[in-house]
Amino acid sequence: MLPASLQVLIDELGRLPGVGPRTAERYAFFILKAPQAQAEALAQAVASLHGSIKACQRCHNLAESDLCDICRDARRDPDLLAVVESPLDIVALERTGMFKGLYHVLGGVISPIDGIGPDQLNIKSLFNRLAKAKPQEVIIATNATTEGDATALYLQKHMPAKVKVTRLARGLPMGSDLEYADQITLGRALEGRRSF
Ligand SMILES: [Zn+2]
Repeated sequence: MLPASLQVLIDELGRLPGVGPRTAERYAFFILKAPQAQAEALAQAVASLHGSIKACQRCHNLAESDLCDICRDARRDPDLLAVVESPLDIVALERTGMFKGLYHVLGGVISPIDGIGPDQLNIKSLFNRLAKAKPQEVIIATNATTEGDATALYLQKHMPAKVKVTRLARGLPMGSDLEYADQITLGRALEGRRSF
């Protein structure tokens, strides 16, 4: 039997994705053996997370002020706008180093089974944004899943007129999430994007 306070930590760590009970134990013992300051730094980082992070008012990416780092970066190309499902997809696309435009995070995909329609996603704010900013090209970079495709189709159909709309090329394995694609595959998919 482990002390209750250690068991609580193991249980919490075990809820993280990809962390089984063994790994959770190893992490907990590592934290226990580490200097107290290090353990406290970890606790502090976890504790302050929800308070310090919010959604970017323009693109819904993660931000620590009203606008995210990408929206505030004057070097980004406002003529290119990539529409993604989640902030993690931005991380994946940024890792390719091949995209210098701006983003819009939908916050999910259209999925009638889960009760998620266009109104539950950041689609209205996307169209409002497009009406004002008029980028030359909108790249729909939803995942290569049935829902991702359906969402892309919906966006393309309802897109305000006179915007060129492209979709990432199919170098991406079917059913796969952008965040798990390697940089080269994702980079190629970005290069090979096609018009609808
Ligand atoms: Zn932003």
